[in-house]
Amino acid sequence: MTRYVFEPAIAGVAIAGSVERFPVHRIYCVGRNYEEHVREMGGTPERDAPIFFSKPPDAIVPNGADVPYPPRTANLHHEIELVVAIGRAGRRIAAADALRHVFGYAVGNDFTRRDLQASARKAGQPWDTSKGFDYSAGITDIHPAKPGKLPQGRIWLSVNGTIRQDSRLDRMIWSVPEIIAELSTYFTLQPGDLVYTGTPAGVGPLKPGDRVEGGIDGLDVLRNTIVQSEP
Ligand code: MN
Repeated sequence: MTRYVFEPAIAGVAIAGSVERFPVHRIYCVGRNYEEHVREMGGTPERDAPIFFSKPPDAIVPNGADVPYPPRTANLHHEIELVVAIGRAGRRIAAADALRHVFGYAVGNDFTRRDLQASARKAGQPWDTSKGFDYSAGITDIHPAKPGKLPQGRIWLSVNGTIRQDSRLDRMIWSVPEIIAELSTYFTLQPGDLVYTGTPAGVGPLKPGDRVEGGIDGLDVLRNTIVQSEP
């Protein structure tokens, strides 16, 4: 008789300066949160408000790990993003109170099967296969937030040493407090939630062998190599 072995699979992210790990509860993502990126995707920022989608918690890929090129796509893209780690539960959180729910910040990569996303958008279908696949959520160690302070400055990404994305966090359409306020009208936020806050312009394709690096001022540099997936 077949025996099945079940183990609780709780994805964790390292916390900078601590031996404790951040247990990932849910991964929320914001789409269309930088004007130039909305335009490069063929939209109009004046008409297309940011949106939410999600990834499964076990899509997490730690800093330094290889990322297998996913199956069923010919157009894997990088999306460098600021990630907010939620430390305190809440619903219908006011923007003015939002930072009190933040545990810390990290640099993330929202890996995307762009071809599947394009066909899903056209057909009005969900984004699960284009966004929520295995190894689709790169993330650095989480840096605990300084009370009331938001990360500021440059957000960038390079592939094999060539800069592809280069912008500033103050170009986000929805700020971090606005994202938390809006998201918490849909969902009860919980400690362990991660929120990927959207990517600036310059998204583009990756192939096996590519070295992907990205960072945000004051946080770590996220480094992953794309590798051929197993047959
Ligand atoms: Mn994204």
